[in-house]
Amino acid sequence: YLRHHDGYAPIFSDFESLWRRRLYQRISDCFQRPITGVAGAYVTLLDRVSNDFNRTFKLTGTKTRTLNLASYNYLGFAQSTGPCADSVEQSIEQFGVGNASPCADLGTTQLLRETESTVARFLGTEGALVVSMGFATNSTTLPALVSKGCLLISDELNHASLVTGSRLSGATIRVFRHNDTSHLESVLRDAISQGQPRTHRPWKKILVVVEGLYSMEGQFCDLPGIVALKEKYKFYLFVDEAHSIGAVGPRGRGVCDWFGVDPRKVDIHMGTFTKSFGSTGGYISGKKELIDFLRLNNHSTMYGESTSVPVLQQIASSVRIIMGEDGTNDGQRRLETLAFNGMYFAKRLREMGYLTLGSDGSPVAPMLLMNPAKIPAFSRECLKRGISVVVVCYPATPIITSRVRFCLSASHTKEDLDYALEQIDTIGNLLMLKLGSGSGNQH
Ligand code: PMP
Repeated sequence: YLRHHDGYAPIFSDFESLWRRRLYQRISDCFQRPITGVAGAYVTLLDRVSNDFNRTFKLTGTKTRTLNLASYNYLGFAQSTGPCADSVEQSIEQFGVGNASPCADLGTTQLLRETESTVARFLGTEGALVVSMGFATNSTTLPALVSKGCLLISDELNHASLVTGSRLSGATIRVFRHNDTSHLESVLRDAISQGQPRTHRPWKKILVVVEGLYSMEGQFCDLPGIVALKEKYKFYLFVDEAHSIGAVGPRGRGVCDWFGVDPRKVDIHMGTFTKSFGSTGGYISGKKELIDFLRLNNHSTMYGESTSVPVLQQIASSVRIIMGEDGTNDGQRRLETLAFNGMYFAKRLREMGYLTLGSDGSPVAPMLLMNPAKIPAFSRECLKRGISVVVVCYPATPIITSRVRFCLSASHTKEDLDYALEQIDTIGNLLMLKLGSGSGNQH
């Protein structure tokens, strides 16, 4: 693949694409398995897809009903029945599926504004902006906020959408070691003329960008530590809560709720509706002036399709349920079940002798497989036993820390989890994954 043609390199000639093409050819059956229904607590999928790289894409194989540990359906709202479904169905009848217009043209609806104010109320901020895609929320908001002459400091494991937005912004980018607040401080001190904390400026602005919960690691950011640095060094703070909003904290309000940090200490709250809320899209929330500014300066809201009404309806209904505004304690019950499931699953994996990553209370439990060859084996053995999981390796993680991630949901019962744990242990023994099992995985 890396051979040059006619004296110049083929367009796909770097290591990453080489790895991807070779890897995916061999283990493509472990990714993008076609699903044949709603990805709820259980999901039915086809076990095989013949994908001859752009020549044919045929859906084949047998239908298998699996316990779904592979979706970010944290609160169990991704269902075709249940408390949100009726209102979504009604809104399709009334408004159709798409608006065929960006907000700035004809695409603004009453429900969009109402949803934005519900989201702001939920987050405890002055205002919110809803964008039709989570990835675009990051990749177009960062360039609206910082540009040449600004400094953007990014956690080394930030999501691709944050990396894309950071690069597009034209700001100078510095990266700090993952979740290492003292390294962040040293990057700040270096950047701010030899340790004079309050005289920041060669930079127009300094923006620190982190995630609330790193989903590949199942780990919370050190929010209290970063907020303390913010008070000392006076930078702006952007927190992507894609995996923490609606999933953690006693009221489901993300990492501020989890750590008991006043949400006003975070300048830019970002999150997605694709996970806990069972919908699509993203949001930015913060001070009113910030939101007014972004409404006119964020390219996805100005030039991209506005969020469709059924999607908004799903967001608005699920947020209200989490806040208890539906008059039931359904939201609270979901949050408590998810918290129990996350703690229970990770604790049992550790007790069984597996090497797990992550913070207690995370709804994602990563378990190290180390050797990339064990990825397809683990995934296929799970499928044989009726379980879907997410396996990850390079380029999403370093090659030698290849892993499987178990995504927990409030819709899983304890029996579901016990079944999965029992099967994982059988597979773990088969693949010699346990600490001290002679697999080369000892640490
Ligand atoms: N930020 C983070 C941290 C994410 O993990 C993701 C997607 N998994 C996104 C942003 C993009 O969100 P979406 O999938 O809703 O476009």
